[in-house]
Amino acid sequence: MSFTKFGLSPAVLEGVKAMGYIEPTPIQLRAMPLIMAGRDVIGSAQTGTGKTAAFALPILSQLGAHAPATRVLVLEPTRELAAQVETAFRDLARFTNVRVAVVYGGVGYGKQMDALKGGADVIVATPGRLLDHLGRGTCQLNQVKFLVLDEADRMLDMGFLPDVRRIVERCPRDRHTSLFSATIPPEIETLIHWAMRQPQTVEIGARRTPAETVKHVIYPVSDDQKSDLLVALLGQVNWESAIVFCRTKHRADRVAALLKKNNHAVAVLHSNRTQREREQALQGFRTGRFEALVATDIAARGLDIADVSHVINYDVPQHPEDYIHRIGRTGRAEASGDAFTLMVAEDAQHVYAIERFISQKIQRVRLEGFNYKYTALFEQEKPGQPKGFPGKARGVRLHGGYYFGPSRRRR
Ligand code: AMP
Repeated sequence: MSFTKFGLSPAVLEGVKAMGYIEPTPIQLRAMPLIMAGRDVIGSAQTGTGKTAAFALPILSQLGAHAPATRVLVLEPTRELAAQVETAFRDLARFTNVRVAVVYGGVGYGKQMDALKGGADVIVATPGRLLDHLGRGTCQLNQVKFLVLDEADRMLDMGFLPDVRRIVERCPRDRHTSLFSATIPPEIETLIHWAMRQPQTVEIGARRTPAETVKHVIYPVSDDQKSDLLVALLGQVNWESAIVFCRTKHRADRVAALLKKNNHAVAVLHSNRTQREREQALQGFRTGRFEALVATDIAARGLDIADVSHVINYDVPQHPEDYIHRIGRTGRAEASGDAFTLMVAEDAQHVYAIERFISQKIQRVRLEGFNYKYTALFEQEKPGQPKGFPGKARGVRLHGGYYFGPSRRRR
């Protein structure tokens, strides 16, 4: 199936060609015809599945040429995602005269005001800064025809849902709405009920199996030896580039300081950093100036950072799907990669949840030559281990690495 079958506009098809996309991804195959037909769509697809193009292509095709009013609004949870989605829109719309503006906090108003004043057909925004602009009267949403609520569950996690509601209220009722979310907790269900009209659900993309090219193992360790083990691991293993994931901003800063002290070139990515610092961190990591990037999930979510040789979970992810996201940063495009997870006793339940989610047991290993205080950690963990472990998750059918079926998980 090629892109020519969807009724996309010729200019948008040119954009697809220029991007080098040959075949649509599963989310594109299923969501694009619905959006082209004017249906509201709920997509459970995650980042990395091609979901941005799945909504951008049909929206751009229906948008036509530049007009004085804003007709597309895409809400994103983080500045990085907003910037990334803006770039995707610009790339795909490059053979049209449609204007795209991005609006997010942490930077000055000047450039954004200019972009809005110039007349933006498409605004990609984080909720807080968009509300500021609406308050100042620097943009209007009364002509919006297409509204996209992207990464809705992250917007919920970050406390943006009240802002999202206020923004949706400023859009005309007669509009098309798409919502993307890896999970549909009750709050999102309420939002769906309130903001969407007879939506069609497209459940794709919740990849539940790590790529075969990723070798992933767990290093059990006591809490007070965790940082020593990290340093020892990085000293012993042959690695080129690593993302180290931490639970909180504070922990990310601490781990980055530790690695710096051990002569590693490190950048940090979390939401307390200024926009400039975050851009420098990303850029420096992509170009190899930094060998390690220490990040929190929220900051790293959805970012197109791939091809790292190692992913290290300094902290076990709290949500099982984040495990797949995190380790998916390595082992891409035929290359092999390693993912290490440091596990302390308190992490046991989270680790079991991950193992149930991916339907496989993750191997426990010990680092040769490391002076472990407690070896009991390596004994078979029995207490609390779920019955029938690892247990097949109900209704899981895997097809071509994508998950089809009743994938919506509540947490
Ligand atoms: P996304 O899930 O939207 O963040 O997209 C992930 C990556 O896949 C981006 O780098 C896109 O440019 C790329 N991509 C999207 N659709 C396709 C496609 N049909 N073929 C190849 N790459 C794609």
